[in-house]
Amino acid sequence: MNRSQSKALERSALVFNVQKYNMYDGPGLRTIVFFKGCPLRCKWCSNPESQKQTYQIMFKKDLCVNCGACTEVCPAMIHAMNNEVHEIKRNNDCIGCCKCKEICPKGALEIAGEMKPLSELLDLIKEDEMFYEQSKGGVTLGGGECTMQAEAAKNLLMACKQEGINTAIETCGYTKHEKLMEIAEFVDYFLYDIKHMNPERHNELTGVSNDLILYNLTELLKRRHNVIIRMPMLKGVNSSREEIRQVIDFLLPFKDYANFKGIDLLPYHKLGVNKYLQLDEVYPIEGDLSLTDAELDQIEKWLKEERFPVRIVRH
Ligand code: SF4
Ligand code: SF4
Repeated sequence: MNRSQSKALERSALVFNVQKYNMYDGPGLRTIVFFKGCPLRCKWCSNPESQKQTYQIMFKKDLCVNCGACTEVCPAMIHAMNNEVHEIKRNNDCIGCCKCKEICPKGALEIAGEMKPLSELLDLIKEDEMFYEQSKGGVTLGGGECTMQAEAAKNLLMACKQEGINTAIETCGYTKHEKLMEIAEFVDYFLYDIKHMNPERHNELTGVSNDLILYNLTELLKRRHNVIIRMPMLKGVNSSREEIRQVIDFLLPFKDYANFKGIDLLPYHKLGVNKYLQLDEVYPIEGDLSLTDAELDQIEKWLKEERFPVRIVRH
């Protein structure tokens, strides 16, 4: 590694998790680095702690015994006692020092977000090189949206490529075109979301229109970057015959490209609901939008009828 390359690894990224031996987010066995910060606010997001590019306190109220220890150590005065009940002042900025988490005798506090030097992330990723070789896996940068920390993401991807490690990013695609193309040079697979084809409906569901997203996707495909399409599937949101038809019509021109690597259907689940409570946030979805196995099979069939490679990714 030359001097400029090791300088690039001196940077840090704000991440909230590193998950090993993942089998769902890209080919083979993978290490997933979850970047913090996302420009979208999808109503079904199962990682609400991924959305803000700041440190956030996750509070398990049922474990707290209101001892007040955390109030003594927090430099930002985020923890307070109100009539002997612990409360969190979320308008104050957390600096991620973890002092509250360390002192809490009940494990009631977690801090979402850690500034990790890229060199440390690279070492973590390299620990499993043997598994990547055997399974044709590698590393995936997920989140959140890693392109919100574009320089850090690019440097980490570049370093992984230099080590011969296969790279992927999981992206919502809502990022400046030039930024995405700069990163693309170091990405073996894009796991690219299509959430809805209608721009207004997309805006209602995620907080942004899909114009830029679809433009970036088209450019990646035309420029022969490997793309796996990912479709979160929710009943009554994006699962009708007509809505699937719109996706088919959009993707048909690219179906026979060698770099079009198929479609993953991601069934909606409610696994993130507790995290909203821990963040004092409201889960935006009412009722259960899960599709039955038969409904998912039907969607898979519609796509297969058009000879798309497709699989349902059940966690
Ligand atoms: S991590 Fe540090 S700044 Fe943040 S709430 Fe805990 S003690 Fe306060
Ligand atoms: S230290 Fe833990 S148990 Fe004590 S008040 Fe704070 S969160 Fe609750």
